[in-house]
Amino acid sequence: MEKGFEDYLDELRDKIRRRGLKHSQQREEILKVLFHAKGHLTPEEIYARLRTSGIGLATIYRTLALLEEEEMVRSISFDNEGRRYELNRGGHHDHLICLGCGAIVEFYDEALEQLQEKIARQAGFTLITHQLNLYGLCATCRLKGDR
Ligand SMILES: [Zn+2]
Ligand SMILES: [Zn+2]
Repeated sequence: MEKGFEDYLDELRDKIRRRGLKHSQQREEILKVLFHAKGHLTPEEIYARLRTSGIGLATIYRTLALLEEEEMVRSISFDNEGRRYELNRGGHHDHLICLGCGAIVEFYDEALEQLQEKIARQAGFTLITHQLNLYGLCATCRLKGDR
């Protein structure tokens, strides 16, 4: 069963309580945007979607940092654009990122996952987490630029 928004909300409220923080409607609004988002959002995009609610960009940055610390969201970094955020829906995936238009494709490859485990093991590491971003040009941008 896929988790619904209520499940994420319960999880957030639980974590906020454990941190001894006060309940905040704004935090929950930001979580909701991430829940309904199809792709990976910049803080500015989240800000734009919450325009009518009067939530400031600083609050969005602060909340994203907190949510990431609590492993409820994940971020991927871009060279020029900063970071993009997505809700951590459980399960792991990596990303192909287009440097032309910013398109992001998610993928999962078991052989690649195992190879990374093996590389870490050989170096005496216990792998805890990883993030693999492959940067390039998507099919559309490649045709456009004829590169
Ligand atoms: Zn592209
Ligand atoms: Zn993703």
